[in-house]
Amino acid sequence: MTPRAAPVPVLQAYAASNLNSYGRLINEVSPDYRSEYQRDRDRIVHSAAFRRLEYKTQVFVNHEGDMFRTRLTHSIEVAQIGRSIARILGINEDLTESIALAHDLGHTPFGHAGQDALNQCMQDYGGFEHNLQSLRVVDELEERYAEFSGLNLTFETREGILKHCSLKRAAELGDLGRRFIEGRQPGLEAQLVNLADGIAYNNHDVDDGLRSGLLTIEQLSEIHLFQEQYELVYASYPTLPQRRVIHEVVRRMINRQVTDLIETSSERIEALSPQDIDAVRTAGQPLIVFSDEMTIHNQQLKRFLRQHLYQHYKVRRMSTKAERILTSLFNAFIDDPRLLPPDYYHRLGRVEQPDTGKARIVADYIAGMTDRFAIGEYERMFDPGHLT
Ligand code: MG
Repeated sequence: MTPRAAPVPVLQAYAASNLNSYGRLINEVSPDYRSEYQRDRDRIVHSAAFRRLEYKTQVFVNHEGDMFRTRLTHSIEVAQIGRSIARILGINEDLTESIALAHDLGHTPFGHAGQDALNQCMQDYGGFEHNLQSLRVVDELEERYAEFSGLNLTFETREGILKHCSLKRAAELGDLGRRFIEGRQPGLEAQLVNLADGIAYNNHDVDDGLRSGLLTIEQLSEIHLFQEQYELVYASYPTLPQRRVIHEVVRRMINRQVTDLIETSSERIEALSPQDIDAVRTAGQPLIVFSDEMTIHNQQLKRFLRQHLYQHYKVRRMSTKAERILTSLFNAFIDDPRLLPPDYYHRLGRVEQPDTGKARIVADYIAGMTDRFAIGEYERMFDPGHLT
């Protein structure tokens, strides 16, 4: 095979850039030696919420084993996949990376189970949605800068973080929410991270599921994406040890999906040939897409994971424990907010609506916890033998 030249980053007219950015909520002098989106990325990497991703998980609980992905390694994988694709498509790599690294900042401890439990607790107070919480983290909750609360990120990074949102909430979000009401698309970098997120988690759930023994190769043989690559690997390396087979298959599954995404999106972009980022936003449909065939394969894989991994009885046991922990903590703090740490308790004095304001502060506190901190906090609150 003739080696292809490595892609050189070229920013196309439809990419986001310093020149077409809608800027930051609070104006700042541009950095001397970085682009605006590099600055966003750097602020995200230095945030407290980003560091905590190391101890948060999606499917498994953080202390259950060092072999599982955490939200930190997941976010880095999304950034890796996103950047490779961004470079080929000529869209903004720095913005892609910054959205990827920020996209999970608002997640609760204990993955899906934690999010569902907190959403349930918040039903009477406007609900809890992790996209909106990620936005809250970067817009309000991080306390690092003299001049503003939050990280004061660019519109484009914030647009990418807010993947979806109800129309009611969109109306409260001003410029950022307008696209949901008007049916417009976000920029290509946001569209890309959304799909790179799915590629990363579907495939690492297969990997973690197999290595943890919760999934078997036999079960996965009914899944087209897996079986196709498994047969190829097996034909070439019939005696390869299982651990390496798993990695080799998952690696090829990711590559297959990335290639499909690049090729299908390139065709779409070429067909529309948007002259600028606004043409992308008003295109009426996303331009970063999988082929129809790959969309069907992806849905099959997602369904399989839902049924066999997320509903596995061992995962269910962990999820039930997680729900119990978060719900108990939530109720205890709502009943007596004086049990909150002082920085959260003091925020109560500033809320406009006492009930919803109080609940939102409790949700912020709980959502910010890592898995192990939530378990520790539960013990401190409810274990009579725990004296501190
Ligand atoms: Mg994610």
